[in-house]
Amino acid sequence: MRLPQIPVNKLMRYGLLSALVAVMVACQMPPTNPFASQSVAEPVSQVASEPNATASPAEKALPPQPANTAASQLVDIRSINPRIVLDIRYATPNNFTHRSLYSQARCLLRAAIAADLSQVQASLEAQGLGLKVYDCYRPLAVQRKMWQLMPDSRYVANPAVGSRHNRGSAVDVTLVDRTGRELEMPTDFDDFSDRAHLEYQGGSAQSRRHRQILQQAMNQQGFISLSTEWWHFDGQNWQQYQVMDVPLEKVKA
Ligand SMILES: [Zn+2]
Repeated sequence: MRLPQIPVNKLMRYGLLSALVAVMVACQMPPTNPFASQSVAEPVSQVASEPNATASPAEKALPPQPANTAASQLVDIRSINPRIVLDIRYATPNNFTHRSLYSQARCLLRAAIAADLSQVQASLEAQGLGLKVYDCYRPLAVQRKMWQLMPDSRYVANPAVGSRHNRGSAVDVTLVDRTGRELEMPTDFDDFSDRAHLEYQGGSAQSRRHRQILQQAMNQQGFISLSTEWWHFDGQNWQQYQVMDVPLEKVKA
């Protein structure tokens, strides 16, 4: 069989061109570790086998949010369960940024997730305990502000990706007793040290026991723990809710 005649210099040009294309394609290929190029402060579920843990490609190819179903509406937790105590830290300077970032101290969550949280409250009340929430829905504009103040993905989710709080599908909580007094935990809220990790075995035995009670109560209602922050939980089906940027005071709930 006779090959078609192609001048050598043309072949060389094709060769160089295809090599160049190969390099360009390789540069655009995603890294093997899906988290390597992501700046997500709260991406990894404690449950390693949980399909939700494959964060980054899923974040980009999310199924469309169900069109305004009742379950996807943002609701104010006070209208769902007024016995849950509020301490919305980002509405005060008592947070890691040392400034107030929220216009209002509100806990807004997707209705289905708020209902689950109310169930947790009921189960804790049976033990003489209750929940106190530090943070719920967080507008994307606030995420950008946090990122300006601390552009470090170990502490703050990159707004280019968004936090699960921006979806109204994550909650930061602790335990209180019957009188509303906070129970001792291994750290304060937003302590970004190893002491906030679920596997941390230091601190008092009581603080570790409280952490365990909180984790069990939340997990029983389908909330997914975060291994590096004892206070943070993702609600069930958090992926189906999209990032939002509606200011807190504009949400009618
Ligand atoms: Zn959180």
